[in-house]
Amino acid sequence: MKKDIHPTYYADAKVVCACGHSFTIGSTVKEIHVEICSNCHPFYTGKERLVDTAGRVDRFKKLTEQKAKVSKTRKGKAVKKAKATERKIAKEKEKIKAEIKENSKPKNKK
Ligand SMILES: [Zn+2]
Repeated sequence: MKKDIHPTYYADAKVVCACGHSFTIGSTVKEIHVEICSNCHPFYTGKERLVDTAGRVDRFKKLTEQKAKVSKTRKGKAVKKAKATERKIAKEKEKIKAEIKENSKPKNKK
């Protein structure tokens, strides 16, 4: 190796994740703080996949709440309005599902 051009290498650099997990790696930075690691990322844990873009999950949740409210209305003038809202919600949900499907596709095909 050439002299004086390489950064200091720490063979025992510490990585600390936001979830509390920490481990040692080799790095030129002595301490690394990360937001997500193999201990807590949904891909490795197999738990719910909520890595969201543009608040789409929030939108979906909001729609679900709205629907719960609407389905309580069964009588009176509100019924017609409720049905219209329900249709609107269903349409919006389809849109979101389509968007997610589109984004889940591998992007190297072009
Ligand atoms: Zn973690």
